[in-house]
Amino acid sequence: MAADFPEKPLSAFEQEVRRIAESPERFQYPRRPFTARGSFIRRCAGCRMPREFCICRYRTETRAQAQFWVLMHIEEVNKPTNTARLIGDTLPTTRVFPWQRMRPPQAFLELLKDPAYQPFIIFPDDQPDYQHRVVQDYPQARQGQEEKIPVFILLDGTWRQARKMFRQSDYLQDLPVLPVRASRKTQYQLRKPASDQHLCTAEVGIELLHLAGDQEAAEVLENYFAVFNQGYAAARRQKQADLSEAMQWLLDYQAGNYKPSR
Ligand SMILES: [Zn+2]
Repeated sequence: MAADFPEKPLSAFEQEVRRIAESPERFQYPRRPFTARGSFIRRCAGCRMPREFCICRYRTETRAQAQFWVLMHIEEVNKPTNTARLIGDTLPTTRVFPWQRMRPPQAFLELLKDPAYQPFIIFPDDQPDYQHRVVQDYPQARQGQEEKIPVFILLDGTWRQARKMFRQSDYLQDLPVLPVRASRKTQYQLRKPASDQHLCTAEVGIELLHLAGDQEAAEVLENYFAVFNQGYAAARRQKQADLSEAMQWLLDYQAGNYKPSR
């Protein structure tokens, strides 16, 4: 898995995240030095894995009818463990914007008004005060809107940050709220979730693609997410991973051999 292949160009998503990381808005926040464990490691620019455990070879673009717009908390932009980027790497239509309470990005506000899209904000339905906005039945919500592109707006931050983003952003208050019901326990081990029902951003993406009927894209993302986890496990052991089923699946897919798993 070592970097013995020509380096792939950065995905459009990754380029945008880098632009956000260098933007003036970024510097309104106190710049704490990045001292998290592993911050001294040399990382691949494409996948942000430790260089010897780069997974860029498995980074695989595909298509879906649904789109994702990621509102990213500024503290996420430099975190290598952020999994929204896995969605961005897989689906080039994915957009990312820095979340700001008072000054939402103009491009995001314009997208919200664009009649070509039917946006949903992805959030749990566990509080009573916004129940009138909750979408109980996604297929029903799509009825009569079939010509519009379904868009899933993801609030990308820690659980606390996402809650704040949801509550404090006036420009999100009219959007229908689509809760994601986990069909499985989280496989993500890099951050401790509040519960094993609590999915990371990439896993939420997989569930949503299934919900939207984008099975093929869901499978690409699922396999890439598996490779991401295997890469981190290998880096922890400091031992290269053997070619896994998920790796082989993605290489086959890149070569034009799609094997539906169901
Ligand atoms: Zn890489």
